Amino acid sequence: MKRDIVQMGKKVLREKAQFIEPGKITSDKIQSIIRDMHESLATQNDGVAIAAPQIGESYQIFTVAPFLFENPEKEHLVYINPTIVTSSKKTKWLHEGCLSCRWKVGDVERSLQTTVEAYDEHGNKFTQSADGLLAHIHQHEIDHLHGILFVDKARKLRDMTQEEIDDVLNDK
Ligand SMILES: [Zn+2]
Repeated sequence: MKRDIVQMGKKVLREKAQFIEPGKITSDKIQSIIRDMHESLATQNDGVAIAAPQIGESYQIFTVAPFLFENPEKEHLVYINPTIVTSSKKTKWLHEGCLSCRWKVGDVERSLQTTVEAYDEHGNKFTQSADGLLAHIHQHEIDHLHGILFVDKARKLRDMTQEEIDDVLNDK
């Protein structure tokens, strides 16, 4: 079931999300939250990833949009209890926005490479190293699970122009 994206100002976005016991990952409750996250993310033209608190669930889960990958069925789209185990010292200021901070954009300093440990939707643990957009997503989404929003860290934070917003809404 698709749900509304929770907007900045709501408490759930500022809480530390709950750890999920690995044995409970395959429970109906967690599986239905994961489904709702995929469906809710798919409603957002500019959405590349979403964290569970953004649909009102304070659990340590984030999901990534399948359209980012050529063969999404071979990729990890679900990250449960994710932690960043290493991140590069080398950083870059990158342009960011957030589905929960409409309609703001700003630049955030992020590591260029990250390695994450997480469980997948079947309850299997995996390790993933990434650079580029995926490394960026790791950091933005794991921040969400700690109650941190990009606006807390951003420089040159500003409201998008109506034209920019229209571009997003009319895309696809
Ligand atoms: Zn976000």
